[in-house]
Amino acid sequence: MKFVGITKRWFLSVASVVILILISVSIALLLSIRSYYYSVADMALDSYSAEEISANFRLYGDAATDGFRAAGRNFVENFPDKDSMAVWIIDSSGNIILSSSGFEIKGKVTMPDYETALKGENNAKWQGELPSGENIIAKTCVYNYSDGSHAGAVRFMISLEQIESQVIRISIVIAIVGIALFALLMFSGSMFIRSIVNPVKSVGETAKKIAGGDLEARIDHYPYNDEIGELCATINDMAAKLSVTDRLKNDFISTVSHELRTPLTAIKGWGETLLQIGETDPQMANRGMSVIINEASRLNEMVEELLDFSRMSSGRMKLNIERIDVLAELDEVVFAFRERTAKNGLEIIYNVPQIPAPATADASRMRQVFINVLDNAVKYTEHGGKIVVLAEIPNPATLVVTISDTGIGIPAEDLPHIKEKFYKVDSTIRGSGIGLAVVDEIIKLHNGEFEIASVYGEGTTVKITLPLTPADSVAEQADISEGE
Ligand code: ADP
Repeated sequence: MKFVGITKRWFLSVASVVILILISVSIALLLSIRSYYYSVADMALDSYSAEEISANFRLYGDAATDGFRAAGRNFVENFPDKDSMAVWIIDSSGNIILSSSGFEIKGKVTMPDYETALKGENNAKWQGELPSGENIIAKTCVYNYSDGSHAGAVRFMISLEQIESQVIRISIVIAIVGIALFALLMFSGSMFIRSIVNPVKSVGETAKKIAGGDLEARIDHYPYNDEIGELCATINDMAAKLSVTDRLKNDFISTVSHELRTPLTAIKGWGETLLQIGETDPQMANRGMSVIINEASRLNEMVEELLDFSRMSSGRMKLNIERIDVLAELDEVVFAFRERTAKNGLEIIYNVPQIPAPATADASRMRQVFINVLDNAVKYTEHGGKIVVLAEIPNPATLVVTISDTGIGIPAEDLPHIKEKFYKVDSTIRGSGIGLAVVDEIIKLHNGEFEIASVYGEGTTVKITLPLTPADSVAEQADISEGE
């Protein structure tokens, strides 16, 4: 992982805070442990209060018999905390006469706690260094004989060296745990950062590729369903849509140029022929003129289709809604096709209920739907074939029109794409490939359904389902709006 960008920013901001927290927590912990040990030592000293101990000494004589020395010896010999504490017995002149460590202590020793105790202080404690350099915490208890004369003192001492070395050992453990924690945090953090940085990098690289024209570039699968996952999905979706748009643009250019070339060649060819023959061959001139007119009207139809397509793509296709009889429009279209079907040697069977199919719809768009579907049925059915147009009204609010043919059919692999713009099964057959896309859009705008089923080599069936608005439902709606 490179130490740049987000990784660097994360490291600098998180690592510094983590280090600061770990150090502060460690120091606080150490100080508390240290003060705990000190307070334990303090409590151990406190457990030897003057009152408790004086009971030991009262048993032994008085000033005359120097009972304190004997009592002191006995006390030191039976002292239970020898392991953790040292005891000195100090005579009335301030000399250390006995030590629990067994070593003789010679000369004057500075004992501020002893001085304080002599002044009558009950809890005389002191922390400092012995002449040997050892750091101790000490407490002195002073004793008087029953006649009031000063008998001596007992000094209890706890070495702080042990506590300090214990604190050092704990500091090392805390430091090791702290470093391990820091390493763990950095490791898990770097894994997390990596899980963000890598996909973001891949998003950037893919976006660059897309911008460079590689519309097939996609971001690799991202396993989490989070914001980054959403971003990856959005970029992939955007690339897919751009790719579709690009394909559409290419299809559009190739289809339009191909479709325009055929009629234009015919018009140009016949125009030149007409120019050459002048008025010498009126029969030929007539033929040429009719070809030119036919091809021009084909061009016109194509331009109209393309305009529809452009309106459809930009969402500008507007409906001129009125109350119409859909079956009357179907009648008209089928009638107009009779001549063409007869010319192509096709049988047309037309069976519709003899009642109106009232709907609020755009009459010319409805005709366009039927024309596009019937045009395909005629175009893709060979001589001798049959076209069946059926309509039924299963309930007063629904009209179902089916137009089937016994034509070439559509291969199963092409069927799912057939409603797509510019999609053609066979690009050599004339046609813009947008007829069914326009049908689909018009039916959707009328809240209807458009399905196409086909068996390759056997024929195709188109089913159009449209909502009807019978007179009573219109009256009901009018009543409701009047009531409002
Ligand atoms: P076109 O103007 O090319 O006919 P359409 O959008 O109307 O465009 O149809 C798209 C494609 O669907 C056609 O090119 C054709 O291959 C196929 N198709 C549509 N209707 C039929 C049909 N009745 N029989 C066989 N193929 C059909």
